[in-house]
Amino acid sequence: MDKNVKLYVVVPCYNEEEVLHETSKQMLELFAQMQSEELISSASRIVFVDDGSKDKTWSIINSLTKEHTEIAGIKLARNAGHQNALFAGLMTVKEDCDCAISIDADLQDDIHVIPDMVKHYIEGYDVVYGVRNKRDTDTFFKRTTAVGFYKLMQLMGVNIVFNHADYRLMSKKALDGLSQFHERNMFLRGMVPLVGYRSTSVYYDRNERFAGESKYPLKKMLSFAFDGITSFSISPIRMISAFGAIVCVIAVIMAVYALVQKIIGHTNAGWASLMMSIWFIGGVQLLSVGLIGEYIGKLYKEVKRRPRYIIEAYVNEREADE
Ligand code: UDP
Ligand code: MG
Repeated sequence: MDKNVKLYVVVPCYNEEEVLHETSKQMLELFAQMQSEELISSASRIVFVDDGSKDKTWSIINSLTKEHTEIAGIKLARNAGHQNALFAGLMTVKEDCDCAISIDADLQDDIHVIPDMVKHYIEGYDVVYGVRNKRDTDTFFKRTTAVGFYKLMQLMGVNIVFNHADYRLMSKKALDGLSQFHERNMFLRGMVPLVGYRSTSVYYDRNERFAGESKYPLKKMLSFAFDGITSFSISPIRMISAFGAIVCVIAVIMAVYALVQKIIGHTNAGWASLMMSIWFIGGVQLLSVGLIGEYIGKLYKEVKRRPRYIIEAYVNEREADE
């Protein structure tokens, strides 16, 4: 048995027949190099997760597993979506590896920082985030929407790593922590920081997708962003309450204004009372919706059953002495 790190690289694939050969070739080269440098053990694996693809993805993965012992495959019964496919892969390999790296099949994320990630793992980090330096290969649209998204998330009080997608290394310990999150709405880049443990980042330049098309059309991207916000933040509910409070203040101002107008005699019959009730009822309704929202927010937190804490170490001196 060699003592080198047993690394598993998990690659979710949805209709990726055009990229698999090139991706596996580059990964295998990197694996060979890392093995010769005695960084990773010969039991390390590249695990392709077929996320219910409709093309030849699975048959390619299947034949790759026969050609190379370093390659393994997992086939999901249907298309479960990127985040679920990734989670499925990580949870499946968790018992077999020392640490796992998740990366997209299209090699947009530079695989050459993988050795650095492993080195950080050896230094004792449990989570290593891959962070994009610049985005000049992304389209203007993708770049602005992505940066806007990270800004918005931070504004909503969600703790995510800026410009980090799902390219990261996690130790077995961190994966065990992640496995305690039972939520169905997966937003991994928000969940991993909640697990805790020592973390660091490596930086790389993002490449263009070398073949095939993005599997994240605008519709999926928007729903992903919306999922991220609603799974991690109840700020939108708080905004309703705040808006309700503002409308209530306006209601008071309007009441005074309407009364003054009525006394001066500038009004038609019924105007003042109508004006006052419209603003008052509006404010009260918004406040009530916000209040109900607060309870729903609490309920939501409860049903997610997230771990309240994860213990990293328990040092008990007396027991150790005995
Ligand atoms: N993917 C997946 N299931 C899906 C959609 C995408 O497993 O339903 C995978 C896809 O094969 C790729 C990764 O998720 O490995 C990221 O997708 P893509 O590169 O198309 O997204 P983009 O880089 O354009 O954001
Ligand atoms: Mg991509």
